[in-house]
This record gives sequence, structure tokens and C-alpha cells, in this order.
Amino acid sequence: MRGVRVDPFSLRLREPLGTAKGEIRERRGFLVGVDRGTGARGVGEATPLPGWTEPYADCHDGLAEMRTAASDGWGFDVEALGPAARHAVSLAEADAAARNRGVALHDWLADRFETRRGGDDRPTTVPVNATVGDGTVDETVSAAEVAVEDGFGCLKLKVGARPLGADERRLRAVREAVGDDVVLRADANGAWDRETAETAVELLADLDFAYVEQPLASDDLHGHAELRGRGVGIALDETLYDSSVSMPTNLREHADVVVLKPMALGGPGPTLSLAQYLRRSGVTPVVTTTVDAAVARAAAVHVAAAIPGIPPCGLATGDLLAEDLVDDPVPVTDGEIAVPEGSGVAGDAFDHRLWD
Ligand SMILES: [Mg+2]
Repeated sequence: MRGVRVDPFSLRLREPLGTAKGEIRERRGFLVGVDRGTGARGVGEATPLPGWTEPYADCHDGLAEMRTAASDGWGFDVEALGPAARHAVSLAEADAAARNRGVALHDWLADRFETRRGGDDRPTTVPVNATVGDGTVDETVSAAEVAVEDGFGCLKLKVGARPLGADERRLRAVREAVGDDVVLRADANGAWDRETAETAVELLADLDFAYVEQPLASDDLHGHAELRGRGVGIALDETLYDSSVSMPTNLREHADVVVLKPMALGGPGPTLSLAQYLRRSGVTPVVTTTVDAAVARAAAVHVAAAIPGIPPCGLATGDLLAEDLVDDPVPVTDGEIAVPEGSGVAGDAFDHRLWD
């Protein structure tokens, strides 16, 4: 790493976003550029999200130390950084390596992590789901209908913010409105106790939901295992990022689906390693963002494209931002995102932010 550049940014959200870990109004992070001095430049992004990654201040300090070490010619242990900072650095390195070879990032990743077999197609698009937030029955149905009109074939509905009876009315009304051909998922963000979750799983199976994310608290691995095999898939999300939970070796007994967030996993590499492990265990990986800026969203699309047969992913989050670093390199069309052409993440589309 000859030269390192770190450029802070702050992007407003269109509307405050309620999450299980508090409301967010803006996304603050860092663009990170590496220049290997051989003409190979790469760009990465660190957009920390408290509760999922290291705090902003830690991310800032870690990247500042790394930049100083690079300019003074010292060694620096990237593994000592938090996941968002590691995401930025490893993405920038991967972008530089792929651009140096003149290949797209997803091809470089698939080659490096041996994710594609001989018969696997090289995808040109990645399927994505729309997310429908909590709301009244009418609000939920109209958001679902708009998404289907926009071409989405897979909707994820937020549940668990109201009593199950109220959620039941929302979910039934959506299934009735969109028909049987639209794939539905639910995300409870850990809101239910075991008894409520059991009733909810019965309802979701009845309404032909594909899976429910995190029905129980993040540390209740055993409870999630107990909910499996009842007609609706069980997906783990928060559990994966809860440092108090040690991942079991028999993950396949606890989940049908696992939600992978590259920003919280430390970059494209660790994400693909985990996806490979999940696939070998018979667990389905799904890739999502943590409401990131353009560079990390584009990178997450490449990560998903490197996983053959990936189901619809939670990558349609660009519209949540009122502003962005550059024009969206990964817009959604008819429920799909075209994998960016050009070498690396998106050719030299981001270079002017760091080097001009
Ligand atoms: Mg989730």
C-alpha cells in the first residue's frame, strides 16, 4: 500500500429510517483510496452503522492511523481495524487488483474465492427485493402495490412493531392484493418471544411466505432452530452480528437462510468465504447493504453476482438516500440491478472523489 487517501462524507436520508437499533437520519462514512504506485488504484468505502459495525469515531481513528502508517512507510495490521474500516481497505485493494487485471470485481472475486463452477453462468443482473416498512393496513398494501407495479417480484415486509393480530391483517391484505406469484418475506428484527413467533410462523406458512428474518432475539439460536421445518424458512440476520453469540458449527440446524452484510463482515472477501461455507452447509445466503453509499452498494452487487443462483437480495437501498457520492452506478430496474460493466467496482467512476 504506497498511498492511502481517506475522504469523509455525510449523506442525508430522504426520511428518517427506524431500525431495531434506533433511528438514522444520515449516513456518515469514508471513501478510501489506495494507490499501489504501479498505476493500480482502488476505491473502497467505510460507512459504519452503530450496532452492526464499529462506531464512527473508531472507524475514523483506525483509518487515520493506517494513512499515517502508509505515508511513513510503516507496517500496519489491517485486521486490527473494525469491520467497516476493513471493508473499505479490502474493497479498495480488491478494486485495484481487478482493475489492474482489467476484469470486473465480481469476476475477480469469483475467481479468487472459487465460487463459480464450470456450468455456472456469469450473471449480468442481480435480483433484488423491495422493502415495505411498518404501517397501517392501507399504507402497507399501497406500498406493496407500488413495488409490484415497479417490477419487483419479491417483497420484504417489516413486522413485529405492532401486536401480531395487527400484523396479521397487514400480511393477509398484502397477499390478497399482490396475488400468489409475488414472493413474500417478513422481517421481525428479533421482536417476538417464542410463543408469538410460533403463532406467526404458522400464519406465514399459511400465507405462503418464503422466509421470516430474525423472528426471535439475536442470542436465541436454539429458539430459531425449533421454528424450522414448519412451512416457512427461518433466516438469521442480527444473530450473525451479535458479538455475544458464538456461531455454531452446525449452522444448518439453526437457519435456512443467512443475511450477509459485507460492511459488517469486514469486506467482500469474508462475505464470500462465509457464503461458500453456507452453500456447502445447505444454508441459503442473501446479500444486503447497511444503507451504504454508492461505492459499497456497487461492491455488494458484485459480491452477490459472484454467488451463483443467489435469490433476491436486499440491495435496493439507494433510494433511501437524498444525496449520494456519484450518480447511482447500480439503479434498480424491474426488480433487478445490472452488474456494473468495466473493470473493478465501476471502472474509474469514483476516482475523481479522491485524486483529481
Ligand atoms: Mg433483517
